[in-house]
Amino acid sequence: MNIKKAEIPESYFGEGYQLTSVEKALGLARANSVWPLPFATSCCGIEFMATMGTNYDLARFGMERLSFSPRQADLLMVMGTIAKKMGPILKQVYTQMAEPKWVIAVGACASSGGIFDTYSVLQGIDKVIPVDVYVPGCPPRPEQIIDGVMKIQELVRNEPYRRRYSPEYQHLLEKYQIG
Ligand code: SF4
Repeated sequence: MNIKKAEIPESYFGEGYQLTSVEKALGLARANSVWPLPFATSCCGIEFMATMGTNYDLARFGMERLSFSPRQADLLMVMGTIAKKMGPILKQVYTQMAEPKWVIAVGACASSGGIFDTYSVLQGIDKVIPVDVYVPGCPPRPEQIIDGVMKIQELVRNEPYRRRYSPEYQHLLEKYQIG
């Protein structure tokens, strides 16, 4: 898989200087310093381990410093079947992360409950927290997980600086009773 170099933001170049907006500079910095928190409960977590290994090498971005503390992470990666009992814990982990933060639902179970259409399984983590990217598959291949991370990078790079203060974002959090 070919990985692009960090893109130069839209800029005005002069002799010995480059001008761009704070928003674009922030987007570039944030997109290349995403720290994921792996919240793995079952088989998709094993696929994530393969993604971290040398063959697929999630570290290729030079930014995948995994954090097992929500306070030092800004990308929540949820992988595996989430029981309804686990829902409040997942939400607590999410609320402990500082803004700005993003979420990937990795695999069918995290995205929709997968094959487990039962009384005990949460039918998608978006029932309890907002999700930015859904990665399909049961399990998804490592390439798909990497693609999900790259989609997050794209979102992060282009996110307007004021989005987190917008009424739409506040409304989204209120919908999830977070705030
Ligand atoms: S989506 Fe499939 S592989 Fe992933 S946790 Fe669910 S059952 Fe396991």
